[in-house]
Order: sequence, then C-alpha cells, then structure tokens
Amino acid sequence: MRVVIAGAGLAGLSCAKYLADAGHTPVVYEARDVLGGKVAAWKDKDGDWYETGLHIFFGAYPNMLQLFGELGIEERLQWKSHSMIFNQPNEPGTYSRFDFPDLPAPLNGVAAILSNNDMLTWPEKIAFGIGLVPAMLRGQNYVEDCDNYSWTDWLKLHNIPERVNDEVFIAMSKALNFIGPDEISSTVLLTALNRFLQEKNGSKMAFLDGAPPERLCQPIVDHIKGFGGEVHLNRPLRKINLNEDGTVKNFSIANDKGQSAIDIEADAYVSALPVDPFKLLIPEQWKDLDIFKRLDGLKGVPVINIHLWFDRKLTDIDHLLFSRSKLLSVYADMSITCKEYADPDKSMLELVFAPAKDWIGRSDEDIIDATMEELKKLFPMHLIGDNQAKLIKYKVVKTPLSVYKAVPGCQSFRPSQKTPISNFFLTGDYTMQRYLASMEGAVLSGKLCAGEVHKNHKEGVK
Ligand SMILES: Cc1cc2nc3c(=O)[nH]c(=O)nc-3n(C[C@H](O)[C@H](O)[C@H](O)COP(=O)(O)OP(=O)(O)OC[C@H]3O[C@@H](n4cnc5c(N)ncnc54)[C@H](O)[C@@H]3O)c2cc1C
Repeated sequence: MRVVIAGAGLAGLSCAKYLADAGHTPVVYEARDVLGGKVAAWKDKDGDWYETGLHIFFGAYPNMLQLFGELGIEERLQWKSHSMIFNQPNEPGTYSRFDFPDLPAPLNGVAAILSNNDMLTWPEKIAFGIGLVPAMLRGQNYVEDCDNYSWTDWLKLHNIPERVNDEVFIAMSKALNFIGPDEISSTVLLTALNRFLQEKNGSKMAFLDGAPPERLCQPIVDHIKGFGGEVHLNRPLRKINLNEDGTVKNFSIANDKGQSAIDIEADAYVSALPVDPFKLLIPEQWKDLDIFKRLDGLKGVPVINIHLWFDRKLTDIDHLLFSRSKLLSVYADMSITCKEYADPDKSMLELVFAPAKDWIGRSDEDIIDATMEELKKLFPMHLIGDNQAKLIKYKVVKTPLSVYKAVPGCQSFRPSQKTPISNFFLTGDYTMQRYLASMEGAVLSGKLCAGEVHKNHKEGVK
C-alpha cells in the first residue's frame, strides 16, 4: 500500500519507518529543506551547528530507545551520570545535585530526594512525598484526572508549601513545556515524576553525539529508502483535496521550485504536521467534525534556543543543568556534553529561554543582552570583574509556535491517530499518547499511526 505522509519531523519519519517495516511504501513530503522539524539543526559559516532546541533523551523513553536499537545506532546516545543538577540562585556559581544511587526504583529516587538538603526542608519533602502517594498507587488514571488542575493548584490541594514550587518545580515545568507551574497542567509534572520514580533509569539523561538531522533523522530516512520508501524535502503540503464522500482524493504538494502544486494520490494519507499549520489546512467539509473542532483548544507555545560561543571554558560539568533563572530554563555546555561539538578550550553554551511569550518578538540583541545578565549569576567568576570571558559569537533560534501548550484541560483536545475519515490519519506529538509533547511522544505517535494505517488496510482487504 502506498501512503503519503506530510511532515518529516520525528513523528512523520517514525510513522514512515514502521509502515515500511510492515511492508508498505511510505512517501514523505517535508515543507522545509531540513529533516527533523523541532529537532532540526543547521551549520553556520564556520561549520558550527545550531539547533531548534537543546534536546535530552531520557531512560524513560522506551520507543525512542527501541528505535535507536532497530537502526543500530545506540552508541550515538551519550549517557550522563544519573543525576539532576540545579543552579543555586542564592549562592551564584554553585550547584545542588540530586544523585540517584544504584538501587531499584523507587528507592533510588527516594534516596536522591532525601539526600538533597540544599533545596527542600524535611517537612517539605514529607508533605510532597505524601502528596505523590495517589499518583504512585493509582497510576496513569489518576494522573489523567489531574489534568483539571495547574501544578500550583495541585500543590495547594495537597497542602504542599509554595516554596517547593520556587525551589524545584518552576525549573521543571519550564523544562517540560516552556511555561511556569501556574500555567502547566499537573498531568505533565505527574507523568514525568511517575516515570522518574517508577523506572530505575527513568530520569537518566543522554545527549545525542551530534546534530539530530544527521545523527538521528538521516538513519531513519536511509531505513525508509532501503525498504523502497521516499523522503522529499522542500515539498510542502498545500491542500487536502476531497472526494464527494469526504474522504481524501489527493494531497496537493508544491513542486520543488515551490511555484505550482502537484496532486499526489495514495491509498492512505497522513498529516505529520504540527497542530498549528495542520489547523490551517483542514478542509471546510471536515470542520464540523468533533475531532477537528477540538483542535482549537491546542496551540503551540513560544520558545527560544540560544547558542553562545565563549573564548574559554566556563564549566567542566558534563550534564544538563537547571538554571533556576527567571528568564532561562535548562542549559548545557555542548562543548563537553556532545562529541561532535567538542572543544577542549572553549565553551558553547546552549540554553533554552522560557517562558518566551514576552521575548519572542524582541530583537536577538535584546535577548542576548538579557541572557548575558542572567549568566552573570550562573558564572560570576567568568563574567564579572577583571579578566572576563569573551562572547565570540551567538545564534538565536526562535520558535513562535513550538510544542502544544499543555495547560489544564487540554488532554481532552488531543486527537487519536485514527480519524473518522477512513483514509486519513494523524501523527505528531500533540496526538494522543502518554508521553506528551516530547521526542518520545512524537516517535510513539508515529508508531501508533502506522499501526492504525496498517490495521485499516488489513480490514479493507478482508
Ligand atoms: C526548544 C525545544 C527543546 C526541546 N527539548 C526537548 C527535550 O529535551 N526532550 C524531548 O523529548 N523533547 C524536546 N522537545 C520537543 C520535541 O522536539 C518535539 O516534541 C518533537 O520533535 C515533535 O516532533 P513532531 O514530529 O511531532 O513535530 P515537528 O518536529 O514539528 O515536525 C513537523 C514537521 O512538519 C513539517 N511541516 C509543517 N508544515 C508542513 C506542510 N505544509 N507540508 C509538509 N511539511 C510540513 C515541519 O517543517 C516539520 O518538519 C523540545 C522542543 C523544542 C522546540
């Protein structure tokens, strides 16, 4: 069966890969000249990479890890020590660590939390531990029910002091969805905490050893092509054309010059677009269908990814860091954490700037000035006083509509991969799967979508 897929982010590529494995012929059309969507990256004129986002892989990503295994590229994941490291705003230039010992879950997580005395007091740890009991015992059903509450409301409901937010969860919610705990759905935090506490290596982190388009997306493309599939860049989906019965007749895809479009026919059609551009392409005839109407409740959140090249090493930490800065979220010195970006003498900090709502429209210069002010608190020894480190160059990548904003109530807006249109399917991290807006969620949604397309085909053949 020939399946046309629009979008070559991780969801579209994963869908194509699993369709190819099942004996079908996927043909992927991507709008841009680069693979990967939100994991896309580019090289500057000096040959240095810059990325859409700083990306971390977790031990709690079973489908992603399986994909690496199936592609034979597991060694490209650079696993770091099992720790979470936070900057300490009250003691600039210092860190507080949660170190997970080599014990079964949840003992390793409990030991990591109990042995950290910098951030939470004992009464706070106890109140928080008691609050988590229902999530641990009742599992995902409880976690889904909590989608009615913001994380701050959930903490209040469980009499957990507000200070726990200030110390730990502002940083975590910014890292997970680029927004603060007053806005984020408690389902997001509880899902992450459940995975981190219930799986021994759930919170263990890895960096890819290079740029995602080359080191992760290209091997998926090679696999797809090896099975007779195709992947085309610079070919945006312009229009979904329908038959009289409302099924898809063809996808109108721009030609590679971008001037005119060609109608491409297939046995099944998949949108792997992010939710915002997909909404603009929903045909008039489908607009009253509940599954598509509910998409109005989903909208991408703005985020900014910043790259700073310095003339010297600012740190020797080979890990992700939670900045706990007002403007910044997580960051890493990629000259240490990522093999292909390695530099023995100079640092390249990659930082996520979030929440970015008030900054996405500002100039790169304003954003860099504000970032450098924040960095003085993180690296006072290098950025204040005599003999300061020099910023050699920078690159700012803005994504005004990134992953869907996971606010309370939005779980019910997320669509299934199967739609009421018999030959049309959806994939993308925003479609329903348990890993929310993440690379794991995108890969899983692609796999689920491929499964639905295959099932539909089998049922049609019977
Ligand atoms: C700054 C940042 C940091 C992140 N950090 C992490 C992290 O540490 N860990 C993690 O797990 N996740 C992280 N994520 C989230 C992760 O990147 C996404 O969840 C995932 O990559 C989404 O994949 P997707 O395929 O669903 O969507 P996308 O990657 O958005 O792919 C959609 C594709 O569709 C294409 N497209 C759009 N319109 C058309 C059209 N008309 N025709 C054809 N193609 C079209 C786009 O160009 C794109 O290639 C981060 C995201 C960002 C932005």
